[in-house]
Amino acid sequence: MSVKQRLQTIQQHIAEACEKTGRNAADVQIVAVTKYVSIARANEAVKAGIVHLGESRADGFLQKYEAIGKEATWHFIGTLQSRKVKQIIDYVDYIHSLDRLSLAEEIDKRANRTMKCFVQVNVSGEMSKHGLAPEDVFSFIETLSAFSRIEVVGLMTMAPYTDDEATIRRCFRTLRELKERVQEKQYPHAPCTQLSMGMSNDYVIAVEEGATFLRLGTCLVGEEEVE
Ligand SMILES: *Cc1c(COP(=O)(O)O)cnc(C)c1O
Repeated sequence: MSVKQRLQTIQQHIAEACEKTGRNAADVQIVAVTKYVSIARANEAVKAGIVHLGESRADGFLQKYEAIGKEATWHFIGTLQSRKVKQIIDYVDYIHSLDRLSLAEEIDKRANRTMKCFVQVNVSGEMSKHGLAPEDVFSFIETLSAFSRIEVVGLMTMAPYTDDEATIRRCFRTLRELKERVQEKQYPHAPCTQLSMGMSNDYVIAVEEGATFLRLGTCLVGEEEVE
């Protein structure tokens, strides 16, 4: 199926979830995660009207960026090793995976402009997941005020991989509540207005719980292999 057709279905689901919860669909951005697919397929997404592209590895990111460039807004969504920061920093618009001080230091050192970052939170507490424990988020964000090139635009999480809707919903809701509490602090360096949450199998719940950036791979561009 074409990206355009898939996008229409997804937009329909987003519209329904917004209708149900009294949200404005214009507040929900779709980041097309192109890590599984070719440059051609990523280009197809841009042609279909997708503005935001996301990659989770530095190599894949650079490959796609070289081919597509400034036509898209670029998101780095995966675990970011500090030594890879300098490779991507000049090209990336949003980093979704800020989860430790050493990474903040490296971003601050290498960036030549303010970097929009999401602080990644491990809400579910699964060992396999990256991100800060919810109780560590406040002190971490306070510490980030020392870095003039880091702006905390929001929080990011990945829900546990499960069919249990209640578990997923609880995870997203906890992230939203955390975001609201950070917002209340009115930190100049951390407006924290955004929520990066929701993937192919749980994005409808994420929209219902307040997501502003969905990270969609499989359901939007498929998972064709990169040659
Ligand atoms: C791969 C990936 C996604 C997209 O996953 P799908 O289930 O294919 O939509 C979203 N977020 C992160 C951090 C990812 O690594």
